[in-house]
Amino acid sequence: MSQLQEKIKALAKEQSAQVIAHRRHLHSNPELSFEEFKTAGYVAQQLRAIGLDPQEGFAGTGVVAIIEGRNAESRTVGLRADMDALPILEANDVPYKSLVPGVMHACGHDVHTSSLLGTARILHQLKDEFDGTIKLVFQPAEEKAPGGASLMIKEGVLENPRPASMVGQHVAPNIPVGKIGFREGMYMASTDELYLTVKGKGGHAAAPHQLVDPVLMASHIIVALQQIISRNRNPANPAVLSFGRFIADGVTNVIPDEVTIQGTWRCMDEVWRAEGLGKMKKLAEGIAESMGGSCVFDIVHGYPFLKNHPELTRRIRTAATQYMGAENIVDLDLWMAGEDFAFYSQVVDSCFYRLGTRNEARGIVSGVHTPTFDIDESALEISTGLMSWLAIAELAS
Ligand SMILES: [Zn+2]
Ligand SMILES: [Zn+2]
Repeated sequence: MSQLQEKIKALAKEQSAQVIAHRRHLHSNPELSFEEFKTAGYVAQQLRAIGLDPQEGFAGTGVVAIIEGRNAESRTVGLRADMDALPILEANDVPYKSLVPGVMHACGHDVHTSSLLGTARILHQLKDEFDGTIKLVFQPAEEKAPGGASLMIKEGVLENPRPASMVGQHVAPNIPVGKIGFREGMYMASTDELYLTVKGKGGHAAAPHQLVDPVLMASHIIVALQQIISRNRNPANPAVLSFGRFIADGVTNVIPDEVTIQGTWRCMDEVWRAEGLGKMKKLAEGIAESMGGSCVFDIVHGYPFLKNHPELTRRIRTAATQYMGAENIVDLDLWMAGEDFAFYSQVVDSCFYRLGTRNEARGIVSGVHTPTFDIDESALEISTGLMSWLAIAELAS
């Protein structure tokens, strides 16, 4: 096995300039969620150049390719990359700066895609040295509901062949380049959007007795809903309820007819996710009614919570330790953001890990979803080789 590891490291080093070129091409030519047409074309073209036969058009712009090793039927591992960019104007002054005004790879999906292209090349070159099948999944629209992953699954990406496990990575601007982060079990949150319309009867602020004040009702609702977190939630069960928009469009002496509120509900348990929503709706409607008004409580369901299968994650972490050295493996905290890789994790054993991309000495410290996000590109040589090794190790497990 260690001989194979040396081979992978040599191949990753040999092709690192090419993978960086892929990344820079994608970074310069970002496309928004569900619009990744040129990106998908580029991915398919590169996969064909490697000698693979990609299947295009999954969920619109998704691309899937298969690498068969020896005894291809024995076991399949799926490797996933997302391809979409964000509606952000890039502020970096770099040679590979976005050529599309207002669109930027600010979440590192260019890194995930180019890295998986590199991994594909390595695994294809080594296909006579491992048993099983690798399924490469390049998916659209991680950043936009309902999420490319959910559509890819509906269109059968987890069938024919069905992966025994799915593995994905994400850049981590808070982790130094050269290090990899893992967490077993619950890792990222489900994301549901809440849209409340609190209705009353507006009028002159000097005559409250003639009105049904939606501002006061909405205020009570906001305060009361937090008791879902403090009194109804099992304290061992992480959850967040935040309201970022509260519009009462009156003036000092005019009370409006209605107030709109928008917020987000995040947790790490699918049963509690639904229960919490039910309680919130009942509470908000009940408060409005008891005060003489009404509340329309709309929910837009987002991604489920992301669970890293414990045994799989332990195996992957062990393999990563072999490849990187124990000193380069770090523990991840819970992170209440959403990620559509979670859809795979609800269906098959899955592991989602973090690739360190920070380089403080070079000023590469900006967070994802910011106009100055960038990575230390030496992370790409690590990520291509590492994911190749993890896939082969998992096939052999
Ligand atoms: Zn993102
Ligand atoms: Zn992302």
